[in-house]
Amino acid sequence: MSARRLLLLGPPGAGKGTQAKILMERLGIPQISTGDMLRAAVAAGSEIGCKAVATMDRGDLVPDEIVIGVARERLGQEDARRGFVLDGFPRTTVQAEALDCMLDELGNPLELCLALQVDEERLVKRLLRRQQLEGRDDDNRESIRHRTAVYRRETQPLIDRYQSRGQLRDVAACGKIEEVAKRIEEALS
Ligand code: ADP
Repeated sequence: MSARRLLLLGPPGAGKGTQAKILMERLGIPQISTGDMLRAAVAAGSEIGCKAVATMDRGDLVPDEIVIGVARERLGQEDARRGFVLDGFPRTTVQAEALDCMLDELGNPLELCLALQVDEERLVKRLLRRQQLEGRDDDNRESIRHRTAVYRRETQPLIDRYQSRGQLRDVAACGKIEEVAKRIEEALS
């Protein structure tokens, strides 16, 4: 199969990480999750982690220049030449513009953006359940509400950006994990 350069867009709790991992296995491409990379930086106590931790716990966005630096470094690595699935980046217009430049430089333009659609009530339920299972510091009611509002304000407008370029596919992200994975597979075929 040819290199796939994919982006998963959707609100917190939509299942981006879960579906990105499935795509990673199925297509043999790396999942590039800025959220995972930032959490790893926090766990390692690195400079970036120290700068990001309070912002993440509040459910605010880490400054663009930090996240863009993290994404740039990861996308420049050898394995990302075979393709990639971006999960949680870009989240702002500035980040989307930076991504366009990075991919231009690498000669690897984005192929498709998959927008995961889920109703809000279900999102909150999923995130509260994740808090019980994984204990993520930002999966509490207050941070969830805030992250969802930030998503609507900062990230949702990116859907129009990819739509207007003919690079968008909507995917209903309700139901079982395998059902969503199947819909994604269909959107990619
Ligand atoms: P979720 O989609 O459930 O909010 P993520 O793991 O994608 O979870 O992100 C967790 C947190 O990491 C975000 O709330 C934010 O603070 C930070 N983060 C991750 N990606 C970005 C990004 N592209 N821009 C700014 N902040 C980010």
